[in-house]
Amino acid sequence: MFSITLGKLAQIVGGRLKRGNPRTPVKHAVYGQTSQIRPGVVYFMHTDQRLARQLAALRQKSCTAVVAPPRWESLIPAHHRLIVTPHVYRGLWELTRWQRNQSRAVFIGVTGSAGKTTTKEMLASILMQKYRVLKSYANYNVAQALPYNLMNLGSHHQAVVLEMGMASLGNIRKQCQYAKPSIGVVTNVGEAHVGSLGNSLDNVVRAKQELVDGIRPGGTLIINADDPGSRKLRLNRFQGRILTFGIQQPAHIRATHIQYTTRGMRFLVNGVSYEIPTWGKHNVYNALAAIAVARIMKVPTASIQRGLSRFPVPYMRLQRLRGIRNFLLINDAYNANPTAMVAGLHVLKQISGGRPTVAVLGNMSALGTLSVPGHRRVGQAVARLNPTRLITIGSLASHIAAGAADHGYPRNRIASFNNQAQAYQYILQSVPAGAILYFKASHNVHLETLVKKLRPPK
Ligand code: ATP
Ligand code: MG
Repeated sequence: MFSITLGKLAQIVGGRLKRGNPRTPVKHAVYGQTSQIRPGVVYFMHTDQRLARQLAALRQKSCTAVVAPPRWESLIPAHHRLIVTPHVYRGLWELTRWQRNQSRAVFIGVTGSAGKTTTKEMLASILMQKYRVLKSYANYNVAQALPYNLMNLGSHHQAVVLEMGMASLGNIRKQCQYAKPSIGVVTNVGEAHVGSLGNSLDNVVRAKQELVDGIRPGGTLIINADDPGSRKLRLNRFQGRILTFGIQQPAHIRATHIQYTTRGMRFLVNGVSYEIPTWGKHNVYNALAAIAVARIMKVPTASIQRGLSRFPVPYMRLQRLRGIRNFLLINDAYNANPTAMVAGLHVLKQISGGRPTVAVLGNMSALGTLSVPGHRRVGQAVARLNPTRLITIGSLASHIAAGAADHGYPRNRIASFNNQAQAYQYILQSVPAGAILYFKASHNVHLETLVKKLRPPK
C-alpha cells in the first residue's frame, strides 16, 4: 500500500476512529479474509459473511485496526483499534480509489472472451524486463477482486496489468471507473461466458464495449483484426489510438511464419523472431496483443523476446508435464468448451512428431441446449484430426465417442469410461510407452487428478 496513517484511512472510508492513535501507520488492508489478519493490516469486516467466525479470528489475532459497521461496534474485542463507518464495503472501494489515485503507474486492462489470463501473464513477464510491475492475482478478474488487487499497489510500481472479466454487465465499467486504465486490450469477442449474460452475443459485445469506453482519453486500445466479434465494437466514440494485431488480416502487429516447436510456438513479427513456451495459434494471438502493449510501453525488442520466452504458462492451460513410462502429458483441463477442445486437438496433431497421440476428454458442462451437439462436434473433429486413440470419461463425453464413430473414426481405437479410475487402468494397460496424452474437460471434472496419477513419483 501507499504510506497512510489510521487517521487518514478513517477519513477516506467515511468513518470515525473510535479507538487508537490517528498517527499509527498502516501497511495493508483486507476485506473479510481472516487468514490475513496480522500486525500492520487493517481488517474490514465482511458484512455478508458469518460474524461469529470473524469475531473468533479477531479474538485470537492482532492487527492494526478493525473497520466495522455501527451495529457491530460493541462486539469488536477491546484489544483492537477501531474505525466505525456505516458503509464498510463502500469505504473499501473509497480506499481502493485513493490507492489508485496515489499511483503514477501505467494501468493496463485486459479483457476478452478467452485468453485474458494468458495475455496478462505474457504482458507482465515482458514488462518486468524494464519496469516494476503489479499484475492481478491468478484469475482474480471480477470487479469485487479489484480492491484485493489494488491493495498491493505501492509507490514503486510503474506498470499495473489487470485482467478484467465480466461476471455481469457493468462489471468491467466499474473496474475501469476505479482503475482508470490508459491502455486496454480486447483479446477477442466470442462465445465464452454467454451463459452468464443471458445467452446473447450482443451482451458479450456490450460488456467488452465497457472497456473501450473506460479507457482514459488519449489512451490506446488494442484489438484483434481477425476476430469477427471484435468488429462489432463501436470505436467511433473512442478518443485515442487504436492498434490492431492479427495473423490473417493486415494489422499493426502481424505474425507470419508461425511454427510449432517441441517447446511451443515460434513466429515472426516484422522480421523479428519470437518464441513462446506454449502451443497453439490462439496463444500466438495472445502474444501479439502483449507485444502491441510492450511496443507502446517502449520495451526494447530483446526484452520482449526474453519476457515472452519465459512467461509462466498459467496452471492447467496446455501445461507440459513428464509422465510415467516416458509419457508426455499435456494438462489443458483448466476448463473446456467445444471450440477450445477442438483447438487442443489441433495442438496434439501438430506436436505429435511421429509419437502415438491419445486424446483424453471429459464432460463439458454448462453448454445448455448445445450440450449434445457440442460434444458431437468435438467427435467430428477427432475423426478429422485422427489421434491414435480416443478416451472419453463421463456420460456427456460419450457423445464425443459417438460423434467420432459416426464420422468414420475406428471404433477399436475408442475407449469410453464412466470414471477416471477405469481410464487410469486402461491407460496403464493399453497406451504404449512414449505416447503424448492430451487432457481436457470442464473444471468441475477435475481431470487433473488423473494427470497427477500418471506423473512419476517425486
Ligand atoms: P477465464 O474467463 O476463465 O478467466 P481467460 O480469458 O483468462 O479465461 P485463459 O485462462 O488465458 O483465458 O485461457 C483459457 C482457455 O481459453 C485456454 O486453455 C485455451 O483453450 C483458450 N484460449 C486462450 N487464449 C485464447 C484465444 N486468444 N482465442 C481462443 N481461445 C483461447
Ligand atoms: Mg482468466
